Amino acid sequence: MAKVPKYVYFFGSGKAEGKAEMKNLLGGKGANLAEMVNIGLPVPPGFTITTEVCSAYYQNKQKYPKSLEKEVRTALTKVEKAMGAKFGDAKNPLLVSIRSGARASMPGMMDTILNLGLNDKTVAGLVAKTKNERFVYDSYRRFVQMYGDVVLGLKPVNKDDIDPFEEIIEAKKHAKGVKLDTELTAEDLKELVVKFKAAIKEKTGHDFPEDPLVQMWGAIGAVFSSWMNDRAIAYRKMYDIPESWGTAVNVQTMVFGNMGEDSGTGVAFTRDAATGENYFYGEYLMNAQGEDVVAGTRTPLPISKLKEQDAKLYGQLDKIRKTLEKHYRDMMDVEFTIQQGKLFMLQCRVGKRTAFAAIKIAVDMVGDKFISEKEALTRIEPDQLNQLLRPIFDVKEKDAAVKSGRLLTKGLNAGPGAATGRIVFNAVDAEAWKNRGEKVILTRIETSPEDIKGMDASEGILTARGGMTSHAALVARQMGKVCVAGCDELNIDYAKHMMTVKGKVLKEGDWMSLDGTTGQVIEGKIQTKPSEVLQVLVEKTLDAKDAPVYQTFAKVMQWADKYRTLKIRTNADQPDQAANAIAFGAEGIGLCRTEHMFFGEGKIGPMREMILADTLEQRKAALAKLLPLQRADFAGIFEAMHGKPVTIRTIDPPLHEFVPHEEKEQRALAQAMRISYEKVKERVEGLHEFNPMLGFRGCRLGIIFPEITEMQARAIFEAAADTQKKGIAVEPEVMIPLVGNVKELVHQEKIVRKVAEDVMKEKGVKFKYLVGTMIEIPRGAITADEIAAVAEFFSFGTNDLTQTTLGVSRDDAARFLIPYVEKEMYAKDPFEVLDRGGVGKLMKIAVEKGRAARPGIKLGICGEHGGEPSSIEFCHLIGLNYVSCSPFRVPIARLAAARAALLNSAGPAKKPVKKVNNKVKTSGKK
Ligand code: PEP
Ligand code: MG
Repeated sequence: MAKVPKYVYFFGSGKAEGKAEMKNLLGGKGANLAEMVNIGLPVPPGFTITTEVCSAYYQNKQKYPKSLEKEVRTALTKVEKAMGAKFGDAKNPLLVSIRSGARASMPGMMDTILNLGLNDKTVAGLVAKTKNERFVYDSYRRFVQMYGDVVLGLKPVNKDDIDPFEEIIEAKKHAKGVKLDTELTAEDLKELVVKFKAAIKEKTGHDFPEDPLVQMWGAIGAVFSSWMNDRAIAYRKMYDIPESWGTAVNVQTMVFGNMGEDSGTGVAFTRDAATGENYFYGEYLMNAQGEDVVAGTRTPLPISKLKEQDAKLYGQLDKIRKTLEKHYRDMMDVEFTIQQGKLFMLQCRVGKRTAFAAIKIAVDMVGDKFISEKEALTRIEPDQLNQLLRPIFDVKEKDAAVKSGRLLTKGLNAGPGAATGRIVFNAVDAEAWKNRGEKVILTRIETSPEDIKGMDASEGILTARGGMTSHAALVARQMGKVCVAGCDELNIDYAKHMMTVKGKVLKEGDWMSLDGTTGQVIEGKIQTKPSEVLQVLVEKTLDAKDAPVYQTFAKVMQWADKYRTLKIRTNADQPDQAANAIAFGAEGIGLCRTEHMFFGEGKIGPMREMILADTLEQRKAALAKLLPLQRADFAGIFEAMHGKPVTIRTIDPPLHEFVPHEEKEQRALAQAMRISYEKVKERVEGLHEFNPMLGFRGCRLGIIFPEITEMQARAIFEAAADTQKKGIAVEPEVMIPLVGNVKELVHQEKIVRKVAEDVMKEKGVKFKYLVGTMIEIPRGAITADEIAAVAEFFSFGTNDLTQTTLGVSRDDAARFLIPYVEKEMYAKDPFEVLDRGGVGKLMKIAVEKGRAARPGIKLGICGEHGGEPSSIEFCHLIGLNYVSCSPFRVPIARLAAARAALLNSAGPAKKPVKKVNNKVKTSGKK
């Protein structure tokens, strides 16, 4: 016969049947009560009915397992023995509380009953024991009321209905001419109990149960039933808590914090939950019950005051704090009650904390020898590092702004951090305003490469259109700017220099604040606080030894580097971005988008001439003007990277992005090129594409205009040669974008290698270089073996690979992707978190085919997913060599890579293929 499971676990008298690890069975509260008893803390005795009973109850038409009643009786007897009191005894009654306790905390969602065991007989015993008639009758009337509401169903359902018990209390106060409950006497309260019971009889047709055992079973049933109340169901849905988990029920001896001035109650954290500081943080109230602390009717005192009021008690509590931390090796939050000078612990659990505190506590606890470095790393969510890397809002000020109705709208949290500034609607104004000392928020329908300088001049960037990989989003991240993208509700009128959002009008110059971490757009100014880490590493305005937050950060980074196997590179196309990334620990550049460079000083003119050229000669003349400018850019990057690998991608975006679309600018260009305005206009119109993202871009440009690739390769290699001559090592990697067919790569590779040979000859130097490709369209992934025969490295361009695999335009998707994710069509925005089931599968195919064809092939990722923790984990699992992300995400990627290694210690799913394939064409030098 199958063994009957144990349904009830006793705790008390220094020994418990349960323990902390039994959370699934005993719920969080029950497991921790048991654990506290086991480590010798003062806990009022009681027992826990397991979550399995809850499941059985619902599976079996709300009936309990047969053996439960007997087990409850046995446990109750143990509690009676531990307390030296008896349930229902007229002289020495035991009173209990009955509370829910699920595996995951669901605060306030389920029901609780206090003071259970009181009836007309036991009440007298309690009066004799406490010699406080008023207190006892107050407890009694609270119990009857709670029981009536929760167990007997008298609680009002609609918000306009009146609680029958409150109605009775109000009538009594009115009759007595008093305002507060506390002004009612013991006699009054006695009368209330009688009236409450009469109300129960009238409404339910039954007498209030006097038998404490009946009371107990009623309350247990009510708690189990509350697992299925609307609030609890909604909460579970919100936090992904499965219904099958069920709740446990805790029956525990009552202790009272309201038995006089030597009694009290409080809540505390073993460290500061906001800052992580290592001191005892909490609040308490004397002569009060738990609900008085939370209700806010009386102001609680800080726990430090207890030291003055009762040093012995404080000492005891502080010792418990230390015991708990040492035992749980974490910051805990506790509830305690003092009954007539005696301290009892009622609850403990791992304390919720801010991201800032989480990092500090994890690092400090390594110092305290509570946890190992590895454990500390797994306790910090990589995105939490943003709290240390970015400016943040003054939390109180921001909360007040949102509460007072200043939240305008919400968009995609494309660039984390806090920004506050005045609204401008174009990039030129952004620069001009910045130059006169203003802080600005650049607000655009969407941004384009032309806006780069204006974006750089802004504190933050706000767009109405575009997703997580739109131009605004990825450039903002690269620059380390705060960005909220795809705010559908903004109606921007460029001509009038104003916008409307939900009927509110905002004009140029109005103050606005962006929370790039949450995507909130808030009207008005909110104070921001700079990042200490940035001041040390990037701005170099603060000494590391005066920066405790930086020191914490540096420790996390040092530990992360010990355990990660993935290398971390950065996406950067300016020397300053490269320098920032190195300061953050980047080990190379994984993507230099050369097209972003054409908007630099003096470059856009010749670039436009090149695009609009009619003949090869004209185009070559324009390219000749661009060559020295590009060469200088690359030299700057090589110097900043000091021998670290630099992947430079040949030009990618559609040409129309580089040409002017406004008449004024078109006329100026016509004049500069000495051609007619009409001609310029006609050529610009000719470049228009309906879906430029899938149009004339990537390697397609270099194949149709090989002289562009030639010029770019020359600029790269001349810069490499010059830099090497200066004694600085170089490691260029030329990357061809949007390859779907090996023939495309072969075509471009030939040009690149020819230029490399020429430059080496001309300059009389030898340098190493690689030629590789991006894998960013499905055909490229599927034919990766053919491509790897030519490519010395692959970098997954998952922005494009996502749009081409899903058939979802990366620029137009935000409008439907947000509701799409809400409807759970995708678990997360696939442009933010890599779609493992689709895009990820293609990557895996490409990794396997690529390595089979060329065992030593270097594999990386440079799409925006390269800076997103769960995607980084995937990259670790499929065995990539590196991830590349925007400079400010480099620390996040370092930590995410370490966690991926630690949490998947079995290692990458596929080890690099060792077999050498002789068919591989080993062109070029390695
Ligand atoms: C990509 O497609 O993932 C990529 C990195 O290139 P881009 O975003 O410039 O198209
Ligand atoms: Mg791409």
